[in-house]
Amino acid sequence: MKFLIESYGCQLNMAESAAIETLLLGRGLEKTDNPDAADAVIINTCSVRKTAENRIWGRLGFYSAEKKKHPMTLIVTGCMAERMKEELKQEAPFIDAVIGTNEKAEIPDFILGSPLEMLSGYKFLSSYYKEGEFSSYVPIMNGCNNFCSYCIVPYVRGREVSRPVEEIIEEIKFLEGKGVREITLLGQNVNSYSSQYNGQAVDFPTLLEIITPYLDNIIFVRFESPHPKDFSDHLISVIAENPKVAKHIHLPMQAGSTRILQLMNRKTTREKFLALVDKMRREIPGLTLSTDVMTGFPSETEEEYEETLSMMEAMGCTEAFMYYFNPREGTRAAEMDGQIEESIKVRRLERLIAEQIERQARIKGSMLPFRATAIVTGTSRDDKDRYLARGEHNDYFSFSSEKEHKPGDVVIIDAVELKGNTFRGSEYV
Ligand code: SF4
Repeated sequence: MKFLIESYGCQLNMAESAAIETLLLGRGLEKTDNPDAADAVIINTCSVRKTAENRIWGRLGFYSAEKKKHPMTLIVTGCMAERMKEELKQEAPFIDAVIGTNEKAEIPDFILGSPLEMLSGYKFLSSYYKEGEFSSYVPIMNGCNNFCSYCIVPYVRGREVSRPVEEIIEEIKFLEGKGVREITLLGQNVNSYSSQYNGQAVDFPTLLEIITPYLDNIIFVRFESPHPKDFSDHLISVIAENPKVAKHIHLPMQAGSTRILQLMNRKTTREKFLALVDKMRREIPGLTLSTDVMTGFPSETEEEYEETLSMMEAMGCTEAFMYYFNPREGTRAAEMDGQIEESIKVRRLERLIAEQIERQARIKGSMLPFRATAIVTGTSRDDKDRYLARGEHNDYFSFSSEKEHKPGDVVIIDAVELKGNTFRGSEYV
């Protein structure tokens, strides 16, 4: 029996798809990329943007035709399945099961013929490892309590649930055994992690301390995404002092104006955010940052947009995910007065991107020359004699070496120049 998984959306969806794949392989099913050969197709959906949902409707049209050609079990899961369960069942009756975010663990049993047992709470899958990968996600939380006014996540993934420490340790031991080199602890609001271990309360920085003794092959621990309001002094000191925690932090900013941040319900201000960045830079040597930022939130003025530009400059990120506000049906921001014309949102975004491209080249260029530890990811597409590697700061290297390497090898590189976004250099021996 063959299965095919299509995944859309965030890293948590990707990690959950990898986990479902592992479970299905473990039950003796085979993976295929060919819809004509698939006996079961799982579409893991995203609801963050309307465009993501439109794409799924298109894929459903495709699979409706496929099902007429040959029998297959079609399952729709993920956030859209949660948000539009009834609509999906009505509009696309050829779907065999619409399975919400909380019930994904039931998918293998359903494919193998068991009726769906609906669960009331989110269940973490046993492992999110994808065979052959040296980089793995480790979900530690699901859901979100923050209700940022533009975001659908709390409505589709529900309230925060933290994964038990014991399960996280088990997964890390398993990944160690598989030769994994880096892990990313995942959650919608990772630094509000809250659990118990040996009778003690465990918050996110404590979790980082607890897992560290289990890390040997794993050389980098990353986490995504933290919320600025929950970025405690304890977390800053653990990042600074723990050599396994990568000194590259993704810290979502979203906007540079206090009024807009408040409208977004981000529970922070421009001043507090900048003070946090300053403190992190002072206390974490060699820190680099990345962020998420948007233009054209309802009622954003030109002056407030300029505040976003100046806060981006003050933050000095080496990477940024930049987008313009796209109203999401079902969120408060979609109903707000002062919706901004698309042409203005796009114009603002274009300048934001242009400035960021110039800024990251400037920051990265100023780091040269330097020596870095990195993980080999493959060979260079343009030059087969060079290898590619990714470093602690999520930076990419193209390097020459006298040695043979395979993906997952750890190397030390002397970087001497920057070409586009990639550092070039040679292996230090
Ligand atoms: S913190 Fe805000 S943006 Fe992030 S998942 Fe929660 S509600 Fe959405």
